[in-house]
Amino acid sequence: MRIEELTWPEFEELKKHVDTVILPIGSVEAHGRHLPLGTDVFAPLEIGKRVEERLHGLGVEVLMAPPVWYGHTFVLDVYPGTINVASDALKAYVREIMREFAAEGFRRIVLLNGHGGNHSPLVLAAEEVAEEFPEVEIWLINWWIDFREDILSICSSQGHAGQDETSVMLAIRPELVKMENARGERRSSRVRVIRKDIGRELFPDGVNDDPSLATAEKGEAILSVVSEKIARLIAGEG
Ligand SMILES: [Zn+2]
Repeated sequence: MRIEELTWPEFEELKKHVDTVILPIGSVEAHGRHLPLGTDVFAPLEIGKRVEERLHGLGVEVLMAPPVWYGHTFVLDVYPGTINVASDALKAYVREIMREFAAEGFRRIVLLNGHGGNHSPLVLAAEEVAEEFPEVEIWLINWWIDFREDILSICSSQGHAGQDETSVMLAIRPELVKMENARGERRSSRVRVIRKDIGRELFPDGVNDDPSLATAEKGEAILSVVSEKIARLIAGEG
């Protein structure tokens, strides 16, 4: 059930027997010359939809919250179309959304994150909510990290706008993927360097992996295993 499609009396009725709300969070940012700016929201939205369907099959109902589209994305901000929200603002905004869900009575809030730059602000936001609402548990799921082993059994590499993310987008919205422009390589630095334009070195054209081997079949396999595993974790069978 998607919260934005419910009336308030329907919501009030549902929350009596639903204790988990899933909140997808992403970013509007450059993903190479081949993926859309909304990639980091499209992916968790699709995973969330599949998790909800699988849980329904297991007899567990959850509520899907409308996503948070804008995230914190310092490194990729050197490319046009990246809309970077300051870390403090994102932390405060997501914290307030979680406080409201906690006050509504939900006992588990699942942050389904699609973007690496959101990680630290989301942890800090979750800690503040957990302090205020000891009865509430917050899960932070970074799908491409938490299920890396599964992903790397499907893809030969992964990375920003890389083989895994491109495959997922080919499975979800193939018409938005320009495979003829899909190129890149893995780059890293020995220590973390924070500099205004570091993104141009580490993410040339907004890519940090070779996306050319991406396929819709790989994307379907990733979406399937990730959503199955998250659903089982939420159902307490994981
Ligand atoms: Zn991404």
